[in-house]
Amino acid sequence: AADTMSPILAALDPHQRAAAEIVDGPLLITAGPGSGKTRTLTHRIAHMIRDRGIPARQCLAVTFTRRAAFEMRERLESLLPDDWRDVHVHTFHSLALAIVRGRGIEVHIADTAERRVLLMDRLNIPERKAGKLLSDISKARRTQTDSAALRDYRDAMDAKGWIDFDDLIAMAIQALEDDPGAAGVYTHISVDEYQDLDAQQYRLVRLLAPKPDSHLCVIGDPDQAIYGFRGGDARFFTTFHDDYPGAPALHLTRNYRSGGKIVTASAQVISAAGPVRKLFEVVRENPEKITIHTAVTEKAEAEFMVKTIERLIGGHSFFSLDTGRSDGRDTDYGFSDFAVLYRTEAQGEALVEAFERSGMPFLKYSAGRLIDKPAVRDFIAALQDREQAITAASLRGLDTRDRHSLERLLTACGGDNDRVMHELQFVSEADTWDPRADRVALMTIHAAKGLEFPVVFLPGVEEGILPLRFGPGDDTDLAEERRLFYVGMTRARDRLFLSHAERRLWRGKPRAMPPSAFLADIERALLAHSKTDLKTKPTDEDMQIDLFG
Ligand code: ATP
Ligand code: MG
Repeated sequence: AADTMSPILAALDPHQRAAAEIVDGPLLITAGPGSGKTRTLTHRIAHMIRDRGIPARQCLAVTFTRRAAFEMRERLESLLPDDWRDVHVHTFHSLALAIVRGRGIEVHIADTAERRVLLMDRLNIPERKAGKLLSDISKARRTQTDSAALRDYRDAMDAKGWIDFDDLIAMAIQALEDDPGAAGVYTHISVDEYQDLDAQQYRLVRLLAPKPDSHLCVIGDPDQAIYGFRGGDARFFTTFHDDYPGAPALHLTRNYRSGGKIVTASAQVISAAGPVRKLFEVVRENPEKITIHTAVTEKAEAEFMVKTIERLIGGHSFFSLDTGRSDGRDTDYGFSDFAVLYRTEAQGEALVEAFERSGMPFLKYSAGRLIDKPAVRDFIAALQDREQAITAASLRGLDTRDRHSLERLLTACGGDNDRVMHELQFVSEADTWDPRADRVALMTIHAAKGLEFPVVFLPGVEEGILPLRFGPGDDTDLAEERRLFYVGMTRARDRLFLSHAERRLWRGKPRAMPPSAFLADIERALLAHSKTDLKTKPTDEDMQIDLFG
């Protein structure tokens, strides 16, 4: 009966609860965005520990981004005030480092800047090609294909005694192959965002859960696979049943996140190329249609977003609001309820200018790692020299944003400094995003995976940007671009604005940009159109930046 049910399970619906109650053996959960996959995973772990007596230190949860790991820890903290610290919540990389260090191996993980310089110095690669080559090498590693560049790179890295993030996973695999017993410390394993696993990561999971009846739960949504470009492969959903025959496969059917029109429109987009997806049961109805906004230029598009946020928030000066929402005004939304999610980093640069001009509080999350920043590295090095614990007071001297990030990290690690140092290797600026800070969020769609916002803007829904295509003959993976659009749309709870600019600068020249073909897959009844009119012909300056220069 409901009154005797554990409160952890009572917070789940019957389908979610059924999944959470399967604690023994392998389990596969597939479900669409906003169906409570991550919530189910977290509550399932809490249920194991609190209601079934499984020691917290034997539980491992692996997710994809640091930010997701933070959020998972936060949810576990509220469910398990006494035990949450003992649960191992990791990204693949931090897990690999823990395994490697567990064998007493110390490593230097070279950052992107170091690896780029290595390519330039040792292999005579021109600077402009170094970034692309690094990502090609990484993809070769992740898909386990050999290449000459990869071999040269390996030799150069070995000569330095350095490793990279992909090596780290390989080293962990090696460590577990050498000493299979080491995997036994984790008896109950959960993997979120399973659709984005690559071959190496799958291998690591296999080693941690080697038996066909291992307690391994994987959760994901094949429709949200967006890392194919670097080796992510949704075929591991099929592989799972080969390796864990008889694993129950459960499905969640209710969308708790998004209003009905957003649920329907996104289902139409993803179903347009492939089988028609079963419609979700919708929990939240929303009267608002989805807006498609046509802007004359990229600059007008940015202004549209700023104006819309102002309108929804109630207008007035924003400068005083920097400190938070509590200025006594009665508005529906705070700034942090808004997110602008874009396809390319270059779009983000242009948006920063527009938002700076508006005076609206915002934060752009770049993909860079926190530890790649010189100020942060210096700070860490100084601390290590003095072997001194990191305290909140010692964070002075860093700029506000970095300090904020580090403080958040310290809190998340519960004062365990060895673990700060450990985590810091992996933290990106996007990961240290603080949902309580009242700022509009600017980030790539990739970075927004797993997140949700009341109001979402997707700018640049144009042929060439979403789907991204650099030129004719470009081998764009259209299916992956479509899934990316789907991931972007499904971050929205109440309102969704899809916008496109009619003209942008493209390789130095203004160019007409056709709207994305994906837009045509949404039924008209769900859409409202708006358009900014410019009385004069736009100048190049209006187009602001050269996206693909
Ligand atoms: P994504 O595919 O985007 O990662 P998800 O399936 O992991 O989504 P969650 O983030 O776990 O979905 O849940 C989406 C939202 O719905 C969250 O705000 C969550 O708290 C809420 N939610 C999920 N299940 C329930 C429930 N049973 N009761 C109330 N709210 C719920
Ligand atoms: Mg999730």
